[in-house]
Amino acid sequence: PSAMREVFIETPQVRWSDIGGQQYVKQKLKECIEWPLLHPEAFERLGVKPPKGVLLYGPPGCSKTLTAKALATESGINFIAVKGPELLNKFVGESERAIREIFRKARAASPSIIFFDEIDALGTSRSEGRGNSSHEGVITTLLNEMDGVQELVGVTVVAATNRPDVIDTALMRPGRLDRILYVGPPEYQGRVDILKIRTSKMAVDPNIDLEELASLTDGCSGAEISALCQDAALWTMHDNMDAPYVPHAAFVAAAKAVRRQITPETIRRF
Ligand code: ATP
Repeated sequence: PSAMREVFIETPQVRWSDIGGQQYVKQKLKECIEWPLLHPEAFERLGVKPPKGVLLYGPPGCSKTLTAKALATESGINFIAVKGPELLNKFVGESERAIREIFRKARAASPSIIFFDEIDALGTSRSEGRGNSSHEGVITTLLNEMDGVQELVGVTVVAATNRPDVIDTALMRPGRLDRILYVGPPEYQGRVDILKIRTSKMAVDPNIDLEELASLTDGCSGAEISALCQDAALWTMHDNMDAPYVPHAAFVAAAKAVRRQITPETIRRF
């Protein structure tokens, strides 16, 4: 029996409007993925090759998965999500078979996106000698599929990582993951937007000051901002189970308590 769960074609439910900030990433993803999949004739006519793959890199919790899903939702593109580590630790040959199966399904469901999260798990740089020989077959199979042993029409690979430094460089040659996009922590206005999106589904203080909260959360990821809203609500319930809404002070306290996962050190890696 396969250790890998079945490959599912998803239709994500994430809209662009669910994502605060990240305007540049949203726009670039549209250009790199939506245009080629939905208007291949324009690329043909103008004589340019669409990118086959995009690498999204950046610190954790900063909307790599979310933007890839929104693109699929908004453009009506099928979405197949795979986590790098899931493909490893298999019996000999099984990972390779799983990869071929993923690409086969993606071709059958085109236009489609294959989203490889935590791609670094597969791509550990072979040249650095850290490469694990059992991973090598997996990478080779992945490269073969991307190079179009079978024509890859209407399939785009989107890979995501927090560790761009350890990715096998062969994956980033032209015709493979040839567009590289940094997805960083949200700027001030992005944080205001994330707070707005998150609190719009909650009962909140009529006097909530999202700008103050955005100022307090400089350096936080989208995931941390989302989590602090949750914390503020739970702390409010802890104090008073009958509270009609989450008071502004609870958000301030939660914002001040965030333990940032992204430090100046981690950000310097990118
Ligand atoms: P990882 O590297 O850990 O896989 P990621 O960059 O893929 O992280 P996501 O999975 O996209 O991060 O984000 C995690 C969660 O954080 C989302 O499900 C969402 O709740 C929240 N979030 C992150 N960024 C945003 C954003 N820009 N707007 C709204 N919510 C966000």
